[in-house]
Amino acid sequence: AMKLDVDALRYLSKDDFRVLTAVEMGMRNHEIVPAELVDRIAGLKHGGTYKVLKNLLKHKLVHHDSSKYDGFRLTYLGYDFLAIKALVNRGVFAAVGRQIGVGKESDIFEVAAEDGTIMVMKLHRLGRVSFRAVKSKRDYLKHRSSYNWLYLSRLAALKEYAFMKALGEHGFPVPDAVDCNRHCVVMSLVQGYPLVQVKQLQNPDEVLETIVDLVVRLAEHGLIHCDFNEFNIMIDDNEQVTMIDFPQMVSVSHRNAKMYFDRDVECIFKFFSKRFNLSYQEAEDGYDETETDVEEIERPSFSSIAKTTGFLDKELSASGFTRKDQDDIEKFIEGGTEQKDTTSSDDDELEDQEQTHIEATDDSVAENIDFLDLEDQKLEDAAASCNVSIQNED
Ligand code: ADP
Ligand code: MG
Repeated sequence: AMKLDVDALRYLSKDDFRVLTAVEMGMRNHEIVPAELVDRIAGLKHGGTYKVLKNLLKHKLVHHDSSKYDGFRLTYLGYDFLAIKALVNRGVFAAVGRQIGVGKESDIFEVAAEDGTIMVMKLHRLGRVSFRAVKSKRDYLKHRSSYNWLYLSRLAALKEYAFMKALGEHGFPVPDAVDCNRHCVVMSLVQGYPLVQVKQLQNPDEVLETIVDLVVRLAEHGLIHCDFNEFNIMIDDNEQVTMIDFPQMVSVSHRNAKMYFDRDVECIFKFFSKRFNLSYQEAEDGYDETETDVEEIERPSFSSIAKTTGFLDKELSASGFTRKDQDDIEKFIEGGTEQKDTTSSDDDELEDQEQTHIEATDDSVAENIDFLDLEDQKLEDAAASCNVSIQNED
């Protein structure tokens, strides 16, 4: 497994982080942030920014692009460092360990708290795979000059955190949601293995029933997992089930809800009949027990479930995940075809955002004013008024 090299974190100075944060802020309205703008946002004396940028480049925290003008953008690593530093500052964890998973669009690492507790850090990499899909949605966001993987990954992380927290509070077997910053979610470590790695179960029929019951209970709470399969279900030595991976969940009121629900159910039944059927046949001398078991468990039908929509809305927004975030992210994650016209709400949105910016008390105001179509001047003003929080962040 790979190790995220965070050694450099220790050697980066306050100014390094200041400039890195300035690049992050600049990316709100530039895919490539002009060096000169970075300098103005960072506000270091005597051309200090340029020296720092060189150092950040050396550590691969930023990427230099001079094809159109002299500019920089954050790399994944640079964004990782900003999130990790914020979480370390908050005392969430103190060390980053080995990588334990490479998802389609995430990297998963062990992290350790000061007291030695091991947790899991999931870094979302939305756009790593589906960047083309994202690009094809460009017209949806045509009024914004810069949407990008930073925004999408951050949204995916926030969604995952909010759902994990809300589901946990409703008694669903999910990891404990510990904290979230930028594209990074910290959660408890599940003792166990993804179902895909499990070759044998003592009670496959019971496990299947538990899992099917989960899909039904989710729907009763108004939700569909949408990626409910052997990769996202963890099983421990006592055959207890934990579900993970929530960025793609949708509401039962989604127009394709029934299809997603049926697909989740189908995935599970298919996997169980294939995997555990085969192993039984061998062990039981040809007697096909699992086949019968699988058939005994009733396939839930979407229409017969009493669903409570909006049940989790309050909990979700308590974590800062809004309806609008949900609408936004659905467009990218499931590649939906619905094209919504959002241009009309432009001005309201800007006002909302500025409000957020003033009220923000988090460790970086930058992360609360995402995706603004601000003039550079306004961006500078925003930067100026959050200098205090940038300075406080060490
Ligand atoms: P992706 O969205 O990229 O599929 P997942 O959340 O499914 O990411 O995680 C990928 C893999 O990492 C999982 O299949 C599992 O092996 C491991 N993993 C994720 N979260 C945890 C956790 N809380 N505890 C233990 N292992 C985990
Ligand atoms: Mg997964």
